[in-house]
Amino acid sequence: MKENRYSRQILLPEIGPGGQKKLEKSRAVVIGCGALGTNALSFLVRAGVGQVLVADRDIVDLSNLQRQTLFSERDVGRPKAKVAEEILKEINSDVEIEGRVVDISFANIEKLVKGATVVLDATDNMDTRFLVNDACVKHTIPWVYAGAVGVTGMLMPVVPKGPCLRCVFPALPQPGQLPTCDTVGIVNTLPALVASLEVTEAFKIMQGKEPMKELMVLDVWLGEFQKINVKKNPACQTCAKRDFKYLDARERKFAASLCGRNAVQIVPARELQGGLSDLRKQLSRLGDAKLADGVLRFSSRDVDLTVFADGRTIVAGTTDIAKAKTVFSKYIGD
Ligand SMILES: [Zn+2]
Repeated sequence: MKENRYSRQILLPEIGPGGQKKLEKSRAVVIGCGALGTNALSFLVRAGVGQVLVADRDIVDLSNLQRQTLFSERDVGRPKAKVAEEILKEINSDVEIEGRVVDISFANIEKLVKGATVVLDATDNMDTRFLVNDACVKHTIPWVYAGAVGVTGMLMPVVPKGPCLRCVFPALPQPGQLPTCDTVGIVNTLPALVASLEVTEAFKIMQGKEPMKELMVLDVWLGEFQKINVKKNPACQTCAKRDFKYLDARERKFAASLCGRNAVQIVPARELQGGLSDLRKQLSRLGDAKLADGVLRFSSRDVDLTVFADGRTIVAGTTDIAKAKTVFSKYIGD
């Protein structure tokens, strides 16, 4: 008789056959496919969570391989969400897995989290977390906040009746105020640890059990874990007043340098005219232009571009936003 692939977790009183069935009926949405995302996805898919969606805008870079455990050297240059989908399907063909190459914004976050049993934060920035918080509070979907930079991690499950992220952090930090893996680096054991804790909380939520109530702050280097009591803020803009200002924002960010990468992302205000195959034809006169996985890669002597179907472009080889905008106007247009 074929042994059940989940037998070792069914043996656990914390999960058991009933808990396993609940995992199989659940849908987990993972926002981000970097270090936290790849580790979390592996746990979710191996555990047999029925449906798993991962959304990420980025492509695999050599500097990601230190900590992003689903990728290898052959994946460099390909969209992370697509590579993750392929690898995860090989790990567990019972799970419905979808990788979406998308830049998460107010325009798509509600659609992404719709129908989720739980949403897992695996982003690298507070802007996206505030969007996730707005969308999940609005639609009564539990989610788990998680962050990892340097040797320090943070984690907090957000459930409908408990405090939300904005009860704890009322306002967005100023740009440059928080450390990023770009400015301080990251030890690769940290995201694996934070993802373990995050997915464990997600397992509890998927089984209808109470997750941890506190905000956890940990230091992987010192081996220190702290639990901080957090309370619902009766004046919270999001969960008390239900003013979802991040979802209502109509402003698109034009350009930003990417965390941990020598690259700038440009999001044009308008969609790409003519589509990627037309653009490939134009650019192939100027250098090497390849279209694969719905992504156009262009390189010439001094330029390296990755263009997505919506016109979003990653300009590699610079962190200078003005220079990247110039390259964008020259090759893609305004
Ligand atoms: Zn709140």
